[in-house]
Amino acid sequence: MAEQLLNVQNLVVSVADEDKEILHGVNLTINRGETHVLMGPNGAGKSTLGSTLMGDPRYKINDGKISFEGQDITELSADKISKLGMFISFQNPVEIPGITLSNFIRTSIENKTGEHIRLWDFKKELTKTMEILNMDPSYADRDLNVGFSGGEKKKAEILQLLMLKPSLAILDETDSGLDVDAVRTVSKGVEEYKKSVGGALIVITHSTRILEALDIDQTHVLVSGNIVAEGDGSIVDDINENGFEKYINQ
Ligand code: ADP
Ligand code: MG
Repeated sequence: MAEQLLNVQNLVVSVADEDKEILHGVNLTINRGETHVLMGPNGAGKSTLGSTLMGDPRYKINDGKISFEGQDITELSADKISKLGMFISFQNPVEIPGITLSNFIRTSIENKTGEHIRLWDFKKELTKTMEILNMDPSYADRDLNVGFSGGEKKKAEILQLLMLKPSLAILDETDSGLDVDAVRTVSKGVEEYKKSVGGALIVITHSTRILEALDIDQTHVLVSGNIVAEGDGSIVDDINENGFEKYINQ
């Protein structure tokens, strides 16, 4: 039987300092290694769901339960959740002047595993991974995201994904506004993540290029804070052809 990785039960979420409820009772189960697609019109609550799963303090959980790797993580901080092996790629990643991309990734891995990695071993793997992604090695020595273009930020995040090897990755519109070259890197990176890390994935995207690179296990359609439809990859094709209308009006 498939091994459960993430289980979300009746998740009710509002913005921390407001009463506005955004998610009205979301249920979601993801087994180890599965690929899930989350679709929905703008403002449906997709990013809120991703951020809440990762322990983002901007959101308040009013009801429900989140379990990851069999552990109740509903009350855990973002830092603890990422140590357990969950990763999110944001729409707008942070810039950290004074810390190179390379050092940032090495420190993140050490924080996650609690073990020191020898610089030599780290550099070897970093170089190999950057080659797979067709990334110029000089990126690694630049300060994290400082002066990076949108495409370069995404490439840097995909590099982090492959180096950190989380058991669950959430990619939130990692492709929006990217040039062809960056979308290619993202879809290559996602394929590599599935192949070499074997991790589970929740992808929030409209990009046919990225979706075509994936073997989709399940698709979820979120409308106004409720999951209104679930099924296989054919839902993706249907939405790309006909839009969300029938899901909104049901
Ligand atoms: P999606 O990612 O599906 O486009 P979001 O999760 O970003 O949707 O937003 C869902 C709804 O919640 C929107 O109406 C949005 O304005 C609101 N919302 C999300 N985050 C916040 C926040 N931090 N403060 C206020 N409103 C928010
Ligand atoms: Mg969003």
